[in-house]
Amino acid sequence: MKHIGLDMSALKQTLNLGKSYSDNGWGMFVTMLLYKGKRNGCYIIKIDKWFPSSKTCSECGYVHKELQLSDRTYVCPVCGNLIDWDEQAAINIDLEGLRILLSA
Ligand SMILES: [Zn+2]
Repeated sequence: MKHIGLDMSALKQTLNLGKSYSDNGWGMFVTMLLYKGKRNGCYIIKIDKWFPSSKTCSECGYVHKELQLSDRTYVCPVCGNLIDWDEQAAINIDLEGLRILLSA
């Protein structure tokens, strides 16, 4: 099974689309993602945009609410997990996608 954790809001910011998700460019991107994913045997799972992917410890599940965007490294006050912010987000999005897939 192929799966990729993808933060759509971060991708939207990176691509600097500057408009809502419903604009034509974004809609076309999502349509193509769904089409290509299905064609290549991938699951495309939408994660709640408020899911705390960067603030949740990927080791113990603690949600570090005080973490700021400027804190590029996550240090868990509970288990001591030390990890890059983006890497942690990717792991958590991947795990959340699997959780949703397995609960469906
Ligand atoms: Zn932890």
